Amino acid sequence: MTMPPIDGENVSALTFSGIQDALKTDAPSQADVSTTISSPPPLPELDASLLQCTYVAPDNLQPIPSLSDPSLTQQRQSTDHMIQAKWNSTSGWSAPTLCAFAPLTLSPMASCLHYATQCFEGMKVYRGHDGKLRLFRPERNCERLLKSTTRIALPAFPPEEVLKLIAALCATDAKRWLPADQPGRFLYIRPTMLGTEAAVGVQRPNEALLCIFLAVLPVLDAGSGPGIKLLASQADMVRAWPGGFGWAKVGANYGPSLVAQGEARRRGFDQILWLYGEEGVVTEAGASNFFVVWRTRESEGGKLQLVTARLDEGIVLDGVTRRSVIELAREKLPGSSSSDRDRDGDGSGLEAVEVVERMFTMQEIADAAGEGRLLEAFVSGTAWFIAPVASIHFRGQDIVVPGKGVYTGFLKRCLTGIMWGCDGWQAHEWGFVVDEEKVV
Ligand SMILES: *Cc1c(COP(=O)(O)O)cnc(C)c1O
Repeated sequence: MTMPPIDGENVSALTFSGIQDALKTDAPSQADVSTTISSPPPLPELDASLLQCTYVAPDNLQPIPSLSDPSLTQQRQSTDHMIQAKWNSTSGWSAPTLCAFAPLTLSPMASCLHYATQCFEGMKVYRGHDGKLRLFRPERNCERLLKSTTRIALPAFPPEEVLKLIAALCATDAKRWLPADQPGRFLYIRPTMLGTEAAVGVQRPNEALLCIFLAVLPVLDAGSGPGIKLLASQADMVRAWPGGFGWAKVGANYGPSLVAQGEARRRGFDQILWLYGEEGVVTEAGASNFFVVWRTRESEGGKLQLVTARLDEGIVLDGVTRRSVIELAREKLPGSSSSDRDRDGDGSGLEAVEVVERMFTMQEIADAAGEGRLLEAFVSGTAWFIAPVASIHFRGQDIVVPGKGVYTGFLKRCLTGIMWGCDGWQAHEWGFVVDEEKVV
């Protein structure tokens, strides 16, 4: 379906590939703020080295909750500090600040409160078993934040500056909140960008706020249990559509999904598995990507495959965990075509598995289950990590995932080692060690 151009602008600029093109030419500068003035001096960029820190006085620091504190399930607990940086279209980025975590002041007219000019990231900072503080591939989250801001007309920024700010906040608060002698604790990092201009007109906001805070979350991964229960979405609802913005982590994707998610919880399911279109194309589950391990039919070779939705249609989020699962599986699991299988011996004893990113349907999963070819399913994401799927409710039937989870378990162990610095994965390049002595 092609739509007519609006006001001479190319509508394709709204698609994922359009944003990719825009990023090539605009980022990391302030993406076409004003193009009418003849070569204006460049506006100040976001610059982490200008960070101004105002620390909370020792007497006012919050008590650290124990990991078993039941209030943590409410996910309301922040650490002591937060980072903010303001942008406006005439003066660019101002110096970022680190100060006490506190409510924001926003005009009731603020763009984000009306027009969903809001996007975010979700990451974790881990206190490793070797005492080090680590982020997991954080540059990917910062680049994705830039894609999301660009999609909703919020300003661009150099992603590496956001990473420096994230590291600064972690270095400030992790000493107390993730003590070095308590390995295995983590904090959830939430960078968010808001359109803050106080003007009711429907237009590109001329003011924005980048805000980063750390939250204390309970452990959400249902890893050791029998697995999570998914409810496949009804034919009359979709989370995202081609040409839309499902690929961006914008708030506008989440509010409208909460009615379905609430209903799933009431009916005893953990998440919605979002399908797309009449054929029931499998996309992702809640705020996690989705994988299956199945065997192809004998007529198609009877080989094992690890399958997940491809990104081409732009209806699935490009998860950092998803990407990492794919890369690890290709590198560490014996592949059906490669001869250099099992280099480190980690995946030894496992049958070769082919990693496939493609469009696949719920009926294909149902057929595989019915024919005894479905082995495993799991969801992947920062919040739930790698969680095995026990069953999927689809058109009145429960599709039970029978497998023992050997591939799920293998991939989860590799990622756990990288994130928490253990089992020989301490030096892996995906683990970003935060220098706790250096704030910026
Ligand atoms: C955040 C998110 C994911 C997971 O992405 P990660 O980078 O792995 O945390 C998957 N799907 C959706 C819709 C998300 O919002």
